[in-house]
Amino acid sequence: MEEKIIDEKKQGQALTLEPKEENSRKLYIESYGCQMNFSDSEIVASILADEGFNTTNKLEDADLVLVNTCSIRDKAEQSVRKRLEKYNAVKRKNPKMKVGVLGCMAERLKDKFLDEEKIVDMVVGPDAYKDLPNLVKEIEAGRDAVNVILSKEETYGDISPVRLGTNGINALVSITRGCDNMCTFCVVPFTRGRERSRDPQSILSEIQDLAEKGYKEVTLLGQNVDSYLWYGGGLKKEFKNASEMQKATATNFSQLLSLVAEAHPKMRIRFSTSNPQDMTLDVIHTMAKYPNICNHIHLPVQSGSTRILKEMNRQHTREEYIQLIDAVREIIPDCGISQDIITGFPTETDEDHRDTLSLMEYVKYDFGYMFKYSERPGTMAARKLEDDIPEAIKKQRLTEIVDLQLEHSAYRTHQFVGKTVEVLIEKESKKSDAHWSGRNPQSTVTVFPKEHYRPGDFVLVQVEDCTGATLIGNAIGFSENN
Ligand code: SF4
Repeated sequence: MEEKIIDEKKQGQALTLEPKEENSRKLYIESYGCQMNFSDSEIVASILADEGFNTTNKLEDADLVLVNTCSIRDKAEQSVRKRLEKYNAVKRKNPKMKVGVLGCMAERLKDKFLDEEKIVDMVVGPDAYKDLPNLVKEIEAGRDAVNVILSKEETYGDISPVRLGTNGINALVSITRGCDNMCTFCVVPFTRGRERSRDPQSILSEIQDLAEKGYKEVTLLGQNVDSYLWYGGGLKKEFKNASEMQKATATNFSQLLSLVAEAHPKMRIRFSTSNPQDMTLDVIHTMAKYPNICNHIHLPVQSGSTRILKEMNRQHTREEYIQLIDAVREIIPDCGISQDIITGFPTETDEDHRDTLSLMEYVKYDFGYMFKYSERPGTMAARKLEDDIPEAIKKQRLTEIVDLQLEHSAYRTHQFVGKTVEVLIEKESKKSDAHWSGRNPQSTVTVFPKEHYRPGDFVLVQVEDCTGATLIGNAIGFSENN
C-alpha cells in the first residue's frame, strides 16, 4: 500500500467509540500510518469490545494500551519507539497496565520487539487480531504473548468493525489485504503477507449497515484495489472445469464497484490505493458510468524514470503510465489524480530526477505524498542495492518535487474558480468555526459559510476563490443527492 496516509492530526490520536455499559475494562488504542492501519484498529476495537473492553482516550486509565504501528519508513518506527518511552512513566503509576504493539512494525520485528522494548508485553501481526482474546489472557497471567503468523485467507470479513472517532459520515471499508507485488523498496509484502480479496457479500453487508446508520461516503481500501478478485465458487457440477467456474463466478474490482454503486446510488464511493500496473480501463469506464463513484484516483508513480521503475520492480514503464493517465483524462476529463513519489532511490541520477519532474509536469497532479527513499530492512532494495544517494541530494530533489507539486496543486484548484461543485460536509473548517469543510468528488477540500447546512449534507458550492489546496465559496443550495 503506497501510503494514503491518514491526516497528520489523527496520527497517534487515541480514537474512541461509544462505551458498552456491560464492559468494565479500558482499552487505549493509538494508530499510525495508512488508512489500512486505522481500519484495522476498528477491527481490533470490535474484537476487544466483545471481550469487555471499552475504549478510552486517557492513557492513565487504561488496562490495555495498544499501538498500531507503521513500518513504511524508519521515521515511522522512531515515532513508535518515542511513544513507548512515554508509556514507561505512566506504567510506573499504573503497574497493572499492559502494553501491546500491533501492525507492520510488530510483524517486521516479531518477538525481537519484546527484547528491544521492555515495556512491551504483547506483539501481534496484522493477520492475528482474532487471537487477541487469548493473547490478552496470556499477558494478564503475566506471560509475554506473540502471534505474528501471516495468513493467506484472513480478511476479517466476518468482523463488523466499530467506527473509532467517527464523524458518522465517511467510513473505511477494507476489500483486500496483503500484496503480491514485490516493489523493491516496500515492506508491505513482508509485514502484511500475500494478497487476498474479501467476499463481496460481506463488503455489501458492511456498507448496508453503514447506510442504515446514515453514513454518506465509503472508501474501499486495499494495498492494491485493482487486483481485487473474488471467486464465488458455486456448485462444482455446473461447470466443466475450474477455470470455467472461476470465469463465471469471479468478481473483479470494476464489478465490485458496480455492485456497490448500484446497491447504494446515494452513497459516495471512493477507493484507495490503485496500482498503475494492475489498473484496467473497465475500472475507469465504471467510474464514468456511476455518478456516485467519485472522480478521483490515487495513482502512485514513485518515479518518472523507466530505469528507476525497473530498479523498483514496478511492472510498468513511464510510457505505459502516461498512456493510463491519457486514458483517464479521455474517459473522465475532470478526474482528480494524486500521486506517491519516492526521491533519491538507489542509483537515481540527475536525469532520472528530471524524468520525474517532467512526468509531474505532464500530469499536473492535484496533490501527492512525496518522500525521500528510506531503506527498509528485509526489502529487496536493502538486500541488493546500496543506499548511495547522499542525504543532501535526496533533500534537494525532494524540495524540487514538493515545490513543483505545490505549483500544480494551485493550478488545479484555480480551475474550479467560478464553477459550482458538489461538496459533502464532513466537519467544521480548521480555520473558522463559522465555516463548514468537506470535499468535492475530486477530493479537493472546500470551505464555505455554515448557513443552515449540516454535516452529512450534499451541498452545491459556488467557488469564488482558492488557495493551493482549498476551494473557498458559498453554498447555493442542496445537491439532488442530499
Ligand atoms: S509492494 Fe508495491 S504495490 Fe505492494 S504495497 Fe508495496 S508499494 Fe504497493
